[in-house]
Amino acid sequence: MYNHAPDDYTCPFCMLIRGIRDPRVWSEQSDIVYHDESVTAFISAHQYPNNPGNTLVTPNEHFENIYELPVACVLDIHRAAKRLALAMKLAYGCDGVSTRQHNEPSGNQDVWHYHMHITPRYQNDHFYGSHPARMPVEERARHAEMLRRVLEEVEIEG
Ligand SMILES: [Zn+2]
Repeated sequence: MYNHAPDDYTCPFCMLIRGIRDPRVWSEQSDIVYHDESVTAFISAHQYPNNPGNTLVTPNEHFENIYELPVACVLDIHRAAKRLALAMKLAYGCDGVSTRQHNEPSGNQDVWHYHMHITPRYQNDHFYGSHPARMPVEERARHAEMLRRVLEEVEIEG
């Protein structure tokens, strides 16, 4: 329902989650911050200049958007998002954290696999006036390694 992926779509997030390397896929295994039986979180290949560390949380199973995402999956996604938000506070000392999730082209969705952005925010960071650019894989790996390490310190209830 309300899907926009072409019939022959090669989903980059499914390939990342399954560990399949492909030149069409920008993300690398070294981007992965968190993985369990339900969700995977990884450093986004594209980063906003004043907000490095933007991380995407995805369901491991392919669902294109919020309209078809099973409600049972929402809890797993938000549990990971909450832990990541707390990890970002520790890792970056950021002033805040934004979560964003886009659906359909008019909602700025550009990868046809549901994903939630978890973004460290700072006072006067001009986030909404800035534009993302590709971050080198080595730099992304450093962010992923740091967040993985800090995530081990974050315990949440429930
Ligand atoms: Zn997918």
